[in-house]
Amino acid sequence: MIRFDAATKRYPDGTVAVDQLTLEAPSGAITVLVGPSGCGKTTSLRMVNRMIEPTSGTVWLDDTDTASLPAHELRRRIGYVIQNAGLFPHRTVLDNVATVPLLLGEDRRRARASALELVERVGLDPALAKRYPAQLSGGQQQRVGVARALAADPPVMLMDEPFSAVDPVVREQLQDEFLRLQGELGKTIVFVTHDIDEAIKLGDQVAVLRVGGTLAQLATPAELLAR
Ligand code: ADP
Ligand code: ADP
Repeated sequence: MIRFDAATKRYPDGTVAVDQLTLEAPSGAITVLVGPSGCGKTTSLRMVNRMIEPTSGTVWLDDTDTASLPAHELRRRIGYVIQNAGLFPHRTVLDNVATVPLLLGEDRRRARASALELVERVGLDPALAKRYPAQLSGGQQQRVGVARALAADPPVMLMDEPFSAVDPVVREQLQDEFLRLQGELGKTIVFVTHDIDEAIKLGDQVAVLRVGGTLAQLATPAELLAR
């Protein structure tokens, strides 16, 4: 479970990106943060893994204040997927996927063997494992990004517009596979998008933010559709 407790981020120039956000993302569920550009979605997400330090307030991971967790512990427990995959261009697909296990000191052969399984699990042809990111389509790169985040087997995944940079047909495939995979894995997911249709399709609950970084509404997809 992730819990924002009056989490606030004021940037040095005075911009209040997130203002007293209180919100719980339950375990095993997909919580979507949706809202217009600049409403504080990315800032909120990055406060969870402390890429951004809240100015005030707390972000909890289960019963632990994330401020008290060392960086390597956060990296192990919280996966992170971004738009354009953010892959390392000079590493093969396999070594991209194995990044975190290798960082955490796992044996190289074992790390690569489990990376190969994950490559297949996200719907990629294992023959692509030896390629470099530039030799993949956008949709394939996003799959590698998801596989890399899953490789540390984190209970929590943060996903920032992971399917926005691909064409609509591929996006729909990725969304469907993501829901299938989540059905098996049951991660605690916080998912950022500016697309309300995507929010309704993927979310178990949807947090609608407004510019200024406040929570406008917390609803189920059914409730949003009923309006
Ligand atoms: P979203 O992800 O919803 O588009 P962001 O969290 O990226 O929103 O940004 C929220 C607000 O904070 C915006 O007004 C943005 O311009 C501002 N902002 C983001 N990063 C910085 C920064 N490093 N310095 C100053 N303002 C920032
Ligand atoms: P998409 O519509 O999914 O973005 P692309 O048109 O980019 O697909 O790619 C189609 C196919 O060509 C994919 O299977 C991809 O692996 C392959 N491909 C794309 N770019 C390269 C490249 N530079 N080298 C080798 N194969 C590539």
